[in-house]
Amino acid sequence: MFLEANLTTASIESSRPFHYPTAKSALHCGKISLESLARKFGTPLYVYSADQILERLQLFQQAFAGRHHLVCYAVKANSSLAILKLLAEKGAGFDIVSGGELERVLAAAPEAIDRVVFSGVGKTTMEIDQALRAGILEFNVESEAELELLAARARKLKTKARFALRVNPDVFTETHPYISTGLREHKFGIDIRQALQIYKRSVGNRWLEAHGVSVHIGSQIRSAEPFGAAMERANKLVRQLDNAGIAINVVDAGGGLGIDYHDGGFDPAAKLTEYASALNQALEGFTGRLLLEPGRFIVAQAGALVARVLHVKHNGAKTFVITDAAMNDLIRPALYQAYHEIVPVRPRAGNARDVDVVGPICETGDFFARDRALKPLRPGDLVALLDAGAYGMAQSSNYNSRPRAAEVLVEGRSARLIRRRETVVDLLASEVVGPKS
Ligand SMILES: *Cc1c(COP(=O)(O)O)cnc(C)c1O
Repeated sequence: MFLEANLTTASIESSRPFHYPTAKSALHCGKISLESLARKFGTPLYVYSADQILERLQLFQQAFAGRHHLVCYAVKANSSLAILKLLAEKGAGFDIVSGGELERVLAAAPEAIDRVVFSGVGKTTMEIDQALRAGILEFNVESEAELELLAARARKLKTKARFALRVNPDVFTETHPYISTGLREHKFGIDIRQALQIYKRSVGNRWLEAHGVSVHIGSQIRSAEPFGAAMERANKLVRQLDNAGIAINVVDAGGGLGIDYHDGGFDPAAKLTEYASALNQALEGFTGRLLLEPGRFIVAQAGALVARVLHVKHNGAKTFVITDAAMNDLIRPALYQAYHEIVPVRPRAGNARDVDVVGPICETGDFFARDRALKPLRPGDLVALLDAGAYGMAQSSNYNSRPRAAEVLVEGRSARLIRRRETVVDLLASEVVGPKS
């Protein structure tokens, strides 16, 4: 029994901030019991470790300490204001993909605005104006038409726009097809073979400054090799630009470094060392500033979604564990067939049996796990879905008119609510029933 509990403990620890302090105690985030958080704030509840988020940022900063660099955290992974503030205070910049995310940075950390890069394939005129006025570091431009629009808006606002072309290096990445972006057939970026000509054409325009070269090849990429290949191609372009008299200050390596959703023994420091050495090797000769846009790697393992078991139901040979969290709270399993470790908040005795863990939404796709071996759970039990800090709350919705979960940030010995649970009143507030009579 003791041995078994220890095995459970060992299997989720190390790369995660969640652990069982003793064989009999409830799952903790750092020093705080998830049972007490669920009692106080209700479920479904997202819980994040501030300590781990900062630790991951620091790992990145240390891995690239040897060169001029800036970590621009990808806001879309988890855009909570409190988390943005936390990261900005430790020197992080931000990678944004919308005007809404720009507003988030301005609300949480206005002092970091000159550390913001703006990515995305479909920037609107309004968003471009907003970012030009705010004075961001760089626009990552994804088409020639967008560059023309950027120049026109910069001229209108009488300001110079620093840009990088997001080039498509045409490298293959082994990840889910929905989150692979670095092939010519994808909607992202500009064919790297056409980039040089576009930079050259921009030279005469006094409202544009060719500032950088950027790439982003996809997400949840576990191997360092494709990042190196993409950087080599970017570096080659920088040399060609240099030969053409266009001095580039910045190379933006994008984000995408993956974590291990299956193995709690995953070693993030070793992974980062490997990643940094692949990039540094590929960037041989480049002395400018390196931008990095990690999202998932910084926040994924810092977060868990805590849910309560509502019912345990047997249908034929299948057993369904129905929780109060659903695909609207965490869509990754439904959207990408993603795996999330599920552990009981109170260790459970008995033999593990295959069950489906599902939410209450009226969709067969509303599941967190299928045929997962779990020890017997009972109605009222709490479970934690691990590694849910990235693309969890950020991709949540109100489907089935379900108010979104609350979020709690654990900092050392204290925990605070960073987003209150939504109410149905919030949901209805923006709607109109019919014409005024
Ligand atoms: C999504 C995205 C990122 C972050 O990706 P992660 O896999 O979370 O590291 C970085 N840059 C761009 C341009 C993105 O679209």
